[in-house]
Amino acid sequence: MLACVLEENGPSLKEIARPEPLADEALVRVRLAGICATDLELIRGYMNFRGVLGHEFVGEVAGPEAHPLLGRRVVGEINCGCGSCAWCARGMERHCPGRSVLGILDRHGVFAEYTCLPSRNLHPVSDAVEDEAAVFCEPLAACFEVIEQFPEIVEREVLVIGDGRLGLLQARVLRAAGARVGLLGRHREKMALLAPYEIPAWSEPAQAACSGGEKWPVVIEATGAAEGFSLAVSKTKPRGVVVLKSTVASEARLNLSSVVVDEITVLGSRCGPFEPAIQALETGAVRTSLMIHGRYSLQNAPEALEKAREKGIIKVLLRP
Ligand SMILES: [Zn+2]
Ligand SMILES: [Zn+2]
Repeated sequence: MLACVLEENGPSLKEIARPEPLADEALVRVRLAGICATDLELIRGYMNFRGVLGHEFVGEVAGPEAHPLLGRRVVGEINCGCGSCAWCARGMERHCPGRSVLGILDRHGVFAEYTCLPSRNLHPVSDAVEDEAAVFCEPLAACFEVIEQFPEIVEREVLVIGDGRLGLLQARVLRAAGARVGLLGRHREKMALLAPYEIPAWSEPAQAACSGGEKWPVVIEATGAAEGFSLAVSKTKPRGVVVLKSTVASEARLNLSSVVVDEITVLGSRCGPFEPAIQALETGAVRTSLMIHGRYSLQNAPEALEKAREKGIIKVLLRP
């Protein structure tokens, strides 16, 4: 089968063997995949990953024959736990020390015709959610993780920094959940996507003010850039919370003294629950169509990855 494989000298298209599902796994035919900032970071060396790239997808269960979801359209959680440690026993495969992660750590990803995932990772999606929406499930789930970790956030004023896909989705998810949200970004056309959701957006840090002034009780860093953390801290009130959502390959130089002086809580936040994400797509609480800036066939994956890197591009999709 055709796959986009990351090796020492970068990503390239290859013919590789179709994967064989293990006893607890399903074979999934990939219908549509999304290129994520993490994929671009992996290419730059993050995690030292080698293998088939890609972790955002919607697919169709293609095997084994007796699989209860055979033929169903599914999305999938990307962390695959060992199934036998204390973390897995508590349902926290996302933190299993022996985990593999789809297209990120020790497991081939979804920029291919087929992929394999443990059956327990799969969630069927209803016909109400078309492929081009379902493919946003994984990043959307990551936005719900913030609410799972920090439920009081929905009663706070929250500044999201970053107008990439993650920042835009995060702002909408929190707004839909009841939080008062503003966004600090860079691109006028991206921030315009927030207008229908009553989410004010600014491009100048000094202008991004909440009811209490220039500093906010909660700031979410979703810039994907190393400098984002310092900006987030500078916009956070004493005793406030900074939520970190970016994973970047380069190491940031940080001055942590204001974190100490202002007694700021730093909350790292990664992958999240799929159920509320699927629900938000089903009910239309979050719409994604305007975020798609490119559609490519898998044969043109290298070109699609280049496109995803361009400024002002939110989401590029790949169809095997
Ligand atoms: Zn991702
Ligand atoms: Zn485990």
